[in-house]
Amino acid sequence: MRVVLVGPPGAGKGTQAQFIASHLAIPKVSTGDIFRYNVSAGTGLGRQAKAFMDRGDLVPDEVTVAMVASRLQEDDSLSGFLLDGFPRNLPQAETLKKMLADWGIRLDLVLELVVDHDEVIRRLSGRRTCRKCGRVWHVAFDPPSVTGKCDECGGELFQRDDDREETIRHRLEVYEQQTQPLISYYADEGILLGIDATGPVEDVTERALVALRRFIR
Ligand code: ADP
Ligand code: AMP
Repeated sequence: MRVVLVGPPGAGKGTQAQFIASHLAIPKVSTGDIFRYNVSAGTGLGRQAKAFMDRGDLVPDEVTVAMVASRLQEDDSLSGFLLDGFPRNLPQAETLKKMLADWGIRLDLVLELVVDHDEVIRRLSGRRTCRKCGRVWHVAFDPPSVTGKCDECGGELFQRDDDREETIRHRLEVYEQQTQPLISYYADEGILLGIDATGPVEDVTERALVALRRFIR
């Protein structure tokens, strides 16, 4: 199954992607995670992406698309994938469509996580991420049992640089201007499904899985 998760920053894409991907036994491909890994490893790709990420802007399409194309050609993605954070604008969506068509495949479903603006702000301002395994936590909504330490792997939790107030505001503007048009684009393609992404994480996962089962071909 080939699925895209879309929604504003803080909607819970990364959180849901880890559960959905493991449930469907497909890899989660998160462009944000891949960029962050490259920034911390100091690779050429990381150096190209860092300034854009720090400002909350999109990394240029040619860099992002090349990275995704190579990731989707790895063996584990051949029978399916869950994209988290890509595509993020119409040119990326068009390129993805063409790329998949060249490989004789297409997306099955674009799942939109619907959350209001105030909830997104609450989620982003309390988000903490594990440096070691990447698991996402929240200081109030999903706290680890020991402050600052990941329950899954014992790794140190950190606050993302782009989760500062000003950058959050800018990322939400970027979402509205560049990413939101994807909603009507995929609705026109007949593969968009929106779910209510508020409430407990497990309830959102259940709604997502019910939606996905309706679309499995
Ligand atoms: P995204 O990948 O869409 O930017 P994340 O998955 O990183 O969003 O989630 C943002 C923050 O919101 C994290 O701190 C996460 O723990 C928290 N979160 C995710 N889902 C929920 C939920 N259903 N209720 C409350 N908090 C949530
Ligand atoms: P995320 O983890 O999805 O919130 O992404 C963090 C940052 O990585 C974004 O603010 C962008 O700077 C960059 N990024 C992630 N995905 C993309 C994408 N598809 N296109 C361009 N930039 C991206």
